[in-house]
Amino acid sequence: MVADKQADSNKSDDILLSTQEVIKTALNKLGYPEEAYELMKEPVRMMTVRIPVRMDDGKIKIFTGYRAQHNDAVGPTKGGVRFHPNVTENEVRALSIWMSLKAGIVDLPYGGGKGGIICDPRKMSFRELEALSRGYVRAISQIVGPTKDIPAPDVFTNSQIMAWMMDEYSRIDEFNNPGFITGKPIVLGGSHGRESATAKGVTICIEEACKKLGIEIKGARVVVQGFGNAGSFLAKFMYDMGAKIIAISDAEGALHDPDGLDIDYLLDRRDSFGTVTNLFEDTISNEEMLELDTDILVPAAIENQITKDNAHNIKASIVVEAANGPTTLEATKILTERDILIVPDVLASSGGVTVSYFEWVQNNQGYYWKEEEVQEKLREVLVKSFNNVYTTAQNRQIDMRLAAYMVGVRKLTEAARFRGWI
Ligand code: GLU
Repeated sequence: MVADKQADSNKSDDILLSTQEVIKTALNKLGYPEEAYELMKEPVRMMTVRIPVRMDDGKIKIFTGYRAQHNDAVGPTKGGVRFHPNVTENEVRALSIWMSLKAGIVDLPYGGGKGGIICDPRKMSFRELEALSRGYVRAISQIVGPTKDIPAPDVFTNSQIMAWMMDEYSRIDEFNNPGFITGKPIVLGGSHGRESATAKGVTICIEEACKKLGIEIKGARVVVQGFGNAGSFLAKFMYDMGAKIIAISDAEGALHDPDGLDIDYLLDRRDSFGTVTNLFEDTISNEEMLELDTDILVPAAIENQITKDNAHNIKASIVVEAANGPTTLEATKILTERDILIVPDVLASSGGVTVSYFEWVQNNQGYYWKEEEVQEKLREVLVKSFNNVYTTAQNRQIDMRLAAYMVGVRKLTEAARFRGWI
């Protein structure tokens, strides 16, 4: 257990260090002075909280949580809260930087924020989860708010958790405050299209990437790692568009069928944490799945999946990162040298925060949009952003990740400069 924790914290140190490395190169290439990097390399604010929860067995358990606010030069910070046993402080730091980059790439009036609680929601009751969610909001209430820092769902958190958090914040504030958090149920001011927004954004990026490489979506082979919110909706969208989903996986293993899996059947059987492969005997490992012969590979699970150890064996023509941080920098280099088109996480997974922004705008206006309006605006934003990053990569002869970082960090740095911070 102690060794596991050490491994988690080493991995998140790597994630933070490699994020800082790319930020540094991006700022350099954009011609900003060293102070810009000094400001951008860390969150401006980081809060650690301890949350006591009375568990169902009557005992009190103390949970540790974090909230990182990377930079608020452009506007309030924004980003999800994850509930996961492997959450670490440095991971939350890195994730908050990625949120800034996403907001910059899709041009939202936000900086990045991120939260996390070390816990395993798969082993907690509904009542315990409610107490933990409310306790977290009480603990961070002073630094969050609709014009300060706006949380949202992330790994293993959902609209029910957002509802409890919103209710707790509204009690503290003594008025109904839906703009405090996004990803809420529709009846509490949530937006149409928010739940599937990350996957919709990934789908739009796949469509654009396929156009560049002349790949027809109909009949294209797709491998999806992870069957949670992003992975399951994505598999469904691609399946409905006529692609062949030849493999999917969850934390327990992977299912493979070269003729294409029946996604509707799997969606019907998946549990609320995205587990489905435990119902089957004939499974392959996640590692084997990543190396399958396919056109499109979508890592939609966790960090550090494509590394220098397996990057040479990846057979996909396009790797679209629906998860945050699935490919290491060494692997990015190898894939780019092998002419594999990478759609980096900060671009591919920005559909979620884009529709979160739409939700927040609707909350502020008190006027709600139809589903079609949300979808149309999301498509417009993602197509433009994809092409902006792609053109930057082509024109400057750099990899897609560096191009995305350059696009993502520019507005924030300019805003910090105008404010006189650097
Ligand atoms: N957690 C999501 C992400 O990593 C969404 C954040 C949001 O909607 O604010 O992009």
